Amino acid sequence: MKNSEAILVTPKKFEIQKCPMPEPKENEVLLKVEYVGMCGSDIHGFEFGPFIPPKDPNQKIGLGHEVAGEVVGIGSKVTKFKVGDKVIIEPGVPDNTCEYCRTGRYNICPSVDFMATQPNYKGALCQYMTHPEDWTYHLPETMTTLEGALVEPAAVGMHAAILGEAKVGKSIVILGGGTIGLMVLQACLSLGATDITVVDVIPKRLELALKLGAKRVINGKEQDTVQVLRSNELYGDHGVDLVFEAAGSAFTAGQAVQIVARGGKIMMVGTQSKPVPIDFLKINREVTIQTAFRYCNNFPQTIEAIATGRFNVKDMVTNIYDYKDVQTAFEEAIDPVKKLDMVKGVVKVAE
Ligand SMILES: [Zn+2]
Repeated sequence: MKNSEAILVTPKKFEIQKCPMPEPKENEVLLKVEYVGMCGSDIHGFEFGPFIPPKDPNQKIGLGHEVAGEVVGIGSKVTKFKVGDKVIIEPGVPDNTCEYCRTGRYNICPSVDFMATQPNYKGALCQYMTHPEDWTYHLPETMTTLEGALVEPAAVGMHAAILGEAKVGKSIVILGGGTIGLMVLQACLSLGATDITVVDVIPKRLELALKLGAKRVINGKEQDTVQVLRSNELYGDHGVDLVFEAAGSAFTAGQAVQIVARGGKIMMVGTQSKPVPIDFLKINREVTIQTAFRYCNNFPQTIEAIATGRFNVKDMVTNIYDYKDVQTAFEEAIDPVKKLDMVKGVVKVAE
């Protein structure tokens, strides 16, 4: 077996380089990578380099953390997996000792070792990798490894929907219909919610939102989102019970404040890269604003929701690229025209 990895040699330039076959430690599995999802953070990293640049200028930069594959080797103390098992991984390994880990919130562990970021910059865009058994999950027989690679972003949606307390009877608006917005949509549906509106400006995303089960969509370019949602035909003076900001823009954050109901909740799911002004006078009737970060104990339920057909990830895949074409994959993801038709891109690593 020979190994290779896609290394970001400079921003916008990948090179597939030979690398050693990793040896699983006693509690690790050796994984043959089959599919890797292209996350927004990977695409940002490809275009501009890592969010947190490495201290060592010779540090190799890998990308990718949404992975599914097959176990091809196990460490001496691994008990849950055997060679041939199809698996997915949680790409963040927390320290298990800090106050957050000990109180069950390992997603905010300050020492978490997350793939494709500092300090290791270890990316999943490679042929073989190792991972701790404890953060590896069996893929049910009813799921493909392509779907498996989408569990991680799906878990982001599930975590946000659970923190937002999405359920049947609540009115829900999702501002932003990219991958994460559509994952939030499906997570809310799988939890029983039905009255869900998705807002975006890209028609392809809105079509997909309807196909996946949104009750209605609003094209924010063609209509005034706040006016439509505040109309008497929709939520009027009452407002919307639960608003997800999944676009990561100050504009949509401002809209969230204008549409949320008294006592309602705004879930901040998108990454806001700059400070956002909030009109607190508009939400002084006990509105909650909550941020959501990655996921915590959500993989099992996300896997179950996908495996039982309640959560459709495969229809979100718009582009599949071969590993050898990884450069093209990411170039298309940042191309101003081509990216409009890409909801979710995936790289097929194994033949
Ligand atoms: Zn911790």
